[in-house]
Amino acid sequence: MPLPALVDSHCHLNFPSFDDDRAAVLERARDAGVSGIIVPAVDLRSCQEALKLAETYSSVYAAIGIHPNSSREYDSSSIATLRDLASHPRNVAIGEIGLDYYRQSSPKRVQQAALEKQLELAAELGLPVIIHNRDAAEDLMAILEDWAPTVPKGLSRRLGALHSFSASCDIAERALDLGFYLGFTGPITFKNSHALRDIARSAPPDRILVETDSPFLAPQQRRGKRNEPAYLGYICDKLAALHSVDRAQMARQTSSNAVELFALG
Ligand SMILES: [Zn+2]
Repeated sequence: MPLPALVDSHCHLNFPSFDDDRAAVLERARDAGVSGIIVPAVDLRSCQEALKLAETYSSVYAAIGIHPNSSREYDSSSIATLRDLASHPRNVAIGEIGLDYYRQSSPKRVQQAALEKQLELAAELGLPVIIHNRDAAEDLMAILEDWAPTVPKGLSRRLGALHSFSASCDIAERALDLGFYLGFTGPITFKNSHALRDIARSAPPDRILVETDSPFLAPQQRRGKRNEPAYLGYICDKLAALHSVDRAQMARQTSSNAVELFALG
């Protein structure tokens, strides 16, 4: 039985691995009850691609931003370009932005500067942010803790999401205290992800999001395959079990969280 109105709050539907069957992927998503999909950009080119998809498909929304792995692309003209792109009516967030000290495709200070400028832009535009973090939780939280008090009042309850949350329990608590949502992906279904499941279990139901991060991070049941939004139900089911509610209730809860955070309408 399909789930009611799930929202995949993070899906790279613009990536080349979907070039051959994107329409079919969206059809399978719809059949699986996924009625909303947020496509975050990772660089300026994918900003255009995400907006194009959002113009083409009514279930798709875009997020505009430069990913830390692309922060080499970031320069003094980027913010003006991003500001223009972000004004598109189908754009719902600034993202995905953040820090990635695992790949470190650009120096830490370059990543930090790009993140700080894009956070300022989000505050200026009154948009929530979608945050990527890999091996950079302490520096990331320091930046977010400096930024959060500067946002306009209307944004302070919908700051954004820590996407594909994978950091410690302490970081989860600090992010929740600031007002962030936590996004959970395929790894909560992996056999050994006990610590991550503990965090998901203790996170307040009104602050959790389900996401696939397609084409990456396929859930256990599809491990090794290309991920796609139709598999979102596996993540929803796992969260429902962790919170001792049925799948329909978790679907409703996470969808209403996404609608609220990203002002989907
Ligand atoms: Zn992503």
